This record gives sequence, structure tokens and C-alpha cells, in this order.
Amino acid sequence: MSKQINLPHDDSSCGWYAALSQQPACKRLHGEQRADYVVIGAGFAGLAAARRLGELMPDKRIILVDAQRVAQGASGRNSGFVIDLPHKFALEHPDPAHKQRLLSLNRAAIAQLQGLIERHGIDCQWSHAGKYQGAVGQRGLAYLAHFEQLLKNLGETFRLVERDELAQVLGNTYYSRAIFTPGCYLMQPAALVTGLAHSLPENVELLEESPITRLQRKGQGGWLLQGSQGTIRTAQLLLGTSIFTQEFGYLRNRLLPVMTFASWTRPLNDTELAAYGGQLDWGLTPADHAGTTVRMTQDRRLIIRNTYKHVPKYGKSTSDAMRESVRDDHRRAFLARFPQLADVPFSHTWGGVYAISRNFTNFFGELEPGVFASACDNGVGAAWGTISGTLLAEMAVGGDSAQLRDIQTVTGMPSLNPPEPFLGLGVRSRIRLAAWNSRSEL
Ligand SMILES: Cc1cc2nc3c(=O)[nH]c(=O)nc-3n(C[C@H](O)[C@H](O)[C@H](O)COP(=O)(O)OP(=O)(O)OC[C@H]3O[C@@H](n4cnc5c(N)ncnc54)[C@H](O)[C@@H]3O)c2cc1C
Repeated sequence: MSKQINLPHDDSSCGWYAALSQQPACKRLHGEQRADYVVIGAGFAGLAAARRLGELMPDKRIILVDAQRVAQGASGRNSGFVIDLPHKFALEHPDPAHKQRLLSLNRAAIAQLQGLIERHGIDCQWSHAGKYQGAVGQRGLAYLAHFEQLLKNLGETFRLVERDELAQVLGNTYYSRAIFTPGCYLMQPAALVTGLAHSLPENVELLEESPITRLQRKGQGGWLLQGSQGTIRTAQLLLGTSIFTQEFGYLRNRLLPVMTFASWTRPLNDTELAAYGGQLDWGLTPADHAGTTVRMTQDRRLIIRNTYKHVPKYGKSTSDAMRESVRDDHRRAFLARFPQLADVPFSHTWGGVYAISRNFTNFFGELEPGVFASACDNGVGAAWGTISGTLLAEMAVGGDSAQLRDIQTVTGMPSLNPPEPFLGLGVRSRIRLAAWNSRSEL
């Protein structure tokens, strides 16, 4: 395969990234390189794959390469929930064993991240805060009742929290009820992924700001990866490139590029914190998935995330006008919840691209001899990317384990999309319809 590809194009207004201290200079791809393994993409999936390869193959040279700085992609710009319970689509799977496998894979990822954070002293607001799933109106309450039943069927621990008790945590009476599940962790995503990148095994070389613009198969000799200032030759290639996997010619017409957006405030001062009246360090996702995610960070910032866009050209499908209109929507959602903080401005608004599939199936495995990928996590990639990247490395070196067999059982082939223009029309109208139906939850 030899083809020019579209590259990531993330905005430079991500609050999490702006809050990091000055990042050290990065190393870029220069000259002709050779590596035993190359991992493309340094998000959760690629970082985990490169780390595991480094551990399993201490004498091999491993290159991890990203088009951007670590944390500038989706893994550094998400809402910071490391979720054990997958979204409702996965929880609705008819086979209870399937759901238990998903849960234990996600929990293994959380344990792995916790271990790495402790071992390497990664300062990323990591917290075992659990998660609220919140309902505002009747629609949200119906979703919540369904979620409650799914949790009961699974035998999972949860707690119903009513408006008055919620208000003491959230600083608002906007939500009528929530389900609290204890297994979720919260973190500062840009701090976590940069911390992971700076603690990779010694035989893993990280190259940033080095977009791979062409992949060429070189007979039995493996692959030649082309960058703007250099090349890498390798026998084994692992793709942690999420939606961009399709740019390399794989899973074409099976992934949907979706962007969602977040805004946050500057840290509240003492007076504002008193007016807010809630606690620090909580996270709430909407009972109806088309609603609004809200977080209060440990460092006193409130975050609002909502709105989905179909972005066939990734970041290039957005504009300043689109971001301003999203910011206005975020502001409305913020003021509906925190009218007492009307004078607190947002300091950042940003978007990020990820992959979903029409059948909500994640891809994991070998695409062709010597090329492996974990792509399409349907928007919950912090835990999933971590465990799927780890197991992808084990697969690439010919390993076998119960977890590897489990992940192969719960993943599959994302279904084919209809051709354009029907795809774009269909996705845009579904997003609009969901936003309209869920307006009470926004
Ligand atoms: C606003 C927002 C909120 C979210 N909230 C959550 C949340 O709370 N919890 C959660 O679990 N998930 C959340 N998600 C989803 C989550 O961020 C993603 O699912 C996850 O980051 C995917 O990880 P990944 O490693 O597979 O891919 P990515 O993080 O997308 O990494 C892919 C990497 O590949 C690189 N790349 C692509 N093409 C090339 C190329 N040609 N050459 C070199 N490098 C290339 C990119 O630069 C990128 O760094 C959210 C997403 C967004 C946008």
C-alpha cells in the first residue's frame, strides 16, 4: 500500500494541555532509522503497546512515533474519566460473560494505570472518585431506570442519590437523581499521558511532531514508514492511531470520525468556591448519553462537555465559528447549573476526535501479517486504550494469556458504513435528532 494520508489537526486551545508546566523539547524523526517494532500513535493505546513491547523485548529497538506532541491528541484532551463500566450499548449485550470480560479488562487497565502512577510518581490528579450518572428530566430518569436494571443484572455495586444529597456534592439542584458507581477514577488526562510517555522503558524511543505520511510494504522486509525528515524501516508495525487508522488504508468505511467538545473555567477563587457550595473532585456523565458531562477538578475548575459533530476531515472540519457556537452552548449548560457563578468565564474551549462504529464494536487484532491495531473504542478510550494496547503488544510477540483470549472474544469487525453522501447526511441527522430529543438533559 502506498498512499498519501490525512493527518491529525487538533486545535491548540485544550485547557488540560495549557495547564501543564512547560514541556521539554521533543525528539523528532530524522534520517534513516531501523527498529524491530514501530508503534504509531502515542495516545493511551500506543503508549501502552510501546511500554509492553519494551518490557517483553528488552533487547529490541522500539520506536513510538506521533504526529503531534504527546497529549495533544484525544488521549490528552478528554474529560478524564477512567471508566470501568462501559457505555450502555456494551452493557446491553445479551451474553453476561461478554459483559464480565469487558468489565474485568477495564478494571485491569485501571489497576495498571494506578500501578504506573504510583511507581513513577505521575502527578495527574488521579483519584478514586467514582462517577455519578445524572438525570435531569423524565427522559434522563427513564435512561437511569434502565441503567439501574443493567447494574442489578450484572450484580454491580451502585447507589441511588436524590436531588438534595446531590446538591451538596455538585453545588446545584439541577439534577433530579443520579446513580453513583464507585469503580471510576478521575484524572488530568494531559498530565497522565505525558507522565506515561516520560516513564517508558529505556529501549522505547519516543519521536514526537513526526507525522508518518506514507506506509510502503517492502516485500518480506517489512515496512518503510515515511516522515517529512526521515524514514523508519521495521518488520512489525502496531497502530494506536484510533480513527486515523483508516488513513493507512485499514478498516476503511467502517469507522466514524466524531468530535465532541469541552470548556472549562479558570480555577474558582475562595469567594466563588463558597458561592458554588459543592465539593471538589467529582465527575458526572449524563444518563442520556447525548446530554452533558460535568466535572469539578481538584484544582477548582468546572468543566462542561457536550455536542457531537461528524468530522470527515477531522480537525479541519471545524472552524472558529463552530467552536464559538459550541462555547455558547456550553455557557448555557453552565449557567443552567451554576447561575451563582455567572461572572466566572470559561478560559478554554476545545474539541477532540475519536472513532465510533455503527455496531459499537471495537477492532483489536492483526490487520495483515506484521500489522496490528487497536482502533475504535467508541469514545471510552482511557481504560480501553490502555488494556487493548498492552494486549496488542503481547499478540505481536506471539504471546498467549487469558486476557488476550478475552479481548479477542469481546472485539470484532466494525460494520460497514453506507457510502457518501448518505453516510454524512445520516450521521448529521442522527446527531441533530439526538440533541433535540435530549434537550432536557443538556
Ligand atoms: C472531549 C472528549 C472527552 C472524552 N472523554 C473521555 C473520558 O472521559 N473517558 C474516556 O475513556 N474517553 C474519553 N474520550 C475518548 C478518548 O479520549 C479516546 O477514546 C482515547 O483518547 C483514544 O485513545 P487512543 O490511544 O486509541 O487514540 P488517540 O488518543 O486518538 O491517539 C492516536 C494518536 O495517533 C496520532 N496519529 C494519527 N495519525 C498519525 C500519523 N499519520 N502519524 C503519526 N501519528 C499519528 C495522533 O496524533 C494521536 O496522538 C473523550 C474524547 C473527547 C474528544
